[in-house]
Amino acid sequence: MFENSQEQRTNLSELGEFGLIDHLTKQLESKQESTIKGIGDDAAVIDFKHKQTLVSTDFLVEGVHFDLAYMPLKHLGYKAVMVNLSDIYAMNGTASQVTVSIAVSNRFPVEALEELYAGIQLAAKMYQVDVVGGDTTSSTSGLIISVTAIGYAEEKEVVYRSGAKANDLLVVTGDLGAAYMGLQILEREKQVFKANPNAQPDLDQYTYLIERQLKPEARKDIPPLLKALDVKPTSMIDISDGLSSEIIHLCKNSKVGANLFEEKIPLDPALISVCEEFELDSTTVALSGGEDYELLFTIDQGDYDKIKGNPNLTVIGHIAEEKEGMHLITRANQKLPLIARGWNSMPKED
Ligand SMILES: [Mg+2]
Repeated sequence: MFENSQEQRTNLSELGEFGLIDHLTKQLESKQESTIKGIGDDAAVIDFKHKQTLVSTDFLVEGVHFDLAYMPLKHLGYKAVMVNLSDIYAMNGTASQVTVSIAVSNRFPVEALEELYAGIQLAAKMYQVDVVGGDTTSSTSGLIISVTAIGYAEEKEVVYRSGAKANDLLVVTGDLGAAYMGLQILEREKQVFKANPNAQPDLDQYTYLIERQLKPEARKDIPPLLKALDVKPTSMIDISDGLSSEIIHLCKNSKVGANLFEEKIPLDPALISVCEEFELDSTTVALSGGEDYELLFTIDQGDYDKIKGNPNLTVIGHIAEEKEGMHLITRANQKLPLIARGWNSMPKED
């Protein structure tokens, strides 16, 4: 749980709630022009001038969304910020502020929260967002983190889930499935460790997959990239629950169907080899795995030449009329209905 378990442990009660907030937030400084007042008053004050404001919130709950047996607290703080910034980028916006609220039991010493905040602070610095508020309170059992991300976009730049139309191209950033397989590796190592605490795991070959699980990066680069390419997506969503359920969200919101081509789904070579090792189907993992925090969007066919050959972007299918439904076209040219099986409900033996 701690990067250095030899360090001293200060009981939370020694600082008290206000002392704790001061202690954790004293190093934070606001850098965004839109932050008029950050931490230190009853509310933050933000001024986006004539732009539209984007707001998104997520919970991360111990035992549900993360396991501290293999999730270092610094990574957890970083990830908690990432999953929220990802939603702002999915609106084609710029993220500029976050608030962070934590409920924590007294089994956590002050040093544990310092590590959590170090991750939050690193994420804020790397992604140029200000931490402008939040709360800490006690919890009777585990750790709960709620981050709210705030951002902005010009009214005409905002991209909703609802704008896809028949014949648009379906595009995805990065590669898929790696975060899920990273989790499978960490789960396996946890079981090995339980059976033999002296076992020395060699996880080098899995570095990419484990990083995708423990330290995801939100696609801050994509809204400006699309702008530079002069492409405005017709619809967009971030991939938190797996490709198939995100395609279904886009299609339902846009009242359209879709055809997804199995052979086009971008997979990292490390993912393909670990799927063989675990005897899992890599397409199923990409479709249902989740937590990749890539962006899925649709563009007008006329914009294809502008994105063609870009290493960040892969065309994986196209939008169809609603009555045609949503399908996966397999490598064997079979047409299968797309079904949503989220992250939590994915059967292990699949
Ligand atoms: Mg989302």
